[in-house]
Amino acid sequence: MISPFTVLAKDTHSKARTGRLYTQHGVIQTPVFMPVATQACVKALTDEDLRNAGAECLLSNTYHLYLRPTTKLLQQMGGLHKFMHWDGSILTDSGGFQVYSLPKFRKIKEEGVTFQSHHDGSKHLFTPENVIQFESEIGSDIWTMLDVCIHAKDPSKHDAREALNLTKRWAERAAKAYQQTVAQQLITPKEDGSFQVKNSLLFGIIQGAIFPDLRKEAALHMASLPTHGYCIGGLSLGETLEQMNVSVSAVTENLPEGKPRYFMGLGTPVEMLNAIERGVDMFDCVWPTRVARNGLAMTGNGRINIKNAQYRSEDIPLDDQCDCFTCRHYSRAYLCHLYRAAELTSHRLLSIHNIRFLIRLMEKARASITNGTFLSFKEDTIRQYLQQ
Ligand SMILES: [Zn+2]
Repeated sequence: MISPFTVLAKDTHSKARTGRLYTQHGVIQTPVFMPVATQACVKALTDEDLRNAGAECLLSNTYHLYLRPTTKLLQQMGGLHKFMHWDGSILTDSGGFQVYSLPKFRKIKEEGVTFQSHHDGSKHLFTPENVIQFESEIGSDIWTMLDVCIHAKDPSKHDAREALNLTKRWAERAAKAYQQTVAQQLITPKEDGSFQVKNSLLFGIIQGAIFPDLRKEAALHMASLPTHGYCIGGLSLGETLEQMNVSVSAVTENLPEGKPRYFMGLGTPVEMLNAIERGVDMFDCVWPTRVARNGLAMTGNGRINIKNAQYRSEDIPLDDQCDCFTCRHYSRAYLCHLYRAAELTSHRLLSIHNIRFLIRLMEKARASITNGTFLSFKEDTIRQYLQQ
């Protein structure tokens, strides 16, 4: 299956690469950080804030949207883009991760997974087929498949094997459901290397926990299916950085070069740079906005906690290298005051900064890959970021 993805530059000393992924709603430059709009909203921010921060793609969540406001309602409203007034790209998570976060209330069968709503206890069934249908109703640009995610910090190989086997069977069913839902593939390569895309794209999810042999098997299996890209699921769940790096390498070494790789739920600067080095192209995480609401801001010289007394009279921006709306207009002193006064604007201004910080980090990573200095950029960035 043709993927509307072009690799533009490759680092000669690592697997890092830059590229462009074309969707119905525009171009996503990779490596990319995607802010998380779980419930059709990036918490505390508007679509205008996100556009101004340079966001090209948001991540939203099928599980949450299916339960509330319901995917049927989104379809009636003309789809998620219109509903939330966002004209960039949207990727939807299949909901597998959220369903497996509810171990007391879910039951896995060959057909799919039954679970109880965390809102009202009502019972529901997700299958590989109906998740594709729900994503179609949402109208997102990139759809992901229902998978079996293991949450345990130290999963047994037996459990990981069982989960992978079922994920593989579900992936084959999801690929068929996609072909039936998107009857005609409308992806046209253009002479300049770009693509015209008129249908939603399908990404498969690669599981295998922390076992490199299972990760390799999962990658090879997914590479044999008709998809436009690959998600790396089931990591960043408490494993060591070494286990994460080995697992990611086992995946990316066994995937075709010409399709994008997306690490689900990863979004701290150090982890993202490590994954880019191993050939990952796309990231999402709630972390930058979640910590913003607790007063934490990322800067090129490390993290700062704006509620600390030392910032009460500092008449300088959060990060003097940052070009975001917050850093252009407000001092640390003002932001410290807003946080201490429990003003909601504090959530917005710190979230804008943290999202822009990660989007700028990706811009700088892309530039360093293009000019052949990625590894030294990575080392310098991590050293400065971790110095405090
Ligand atoms: Zn800023």
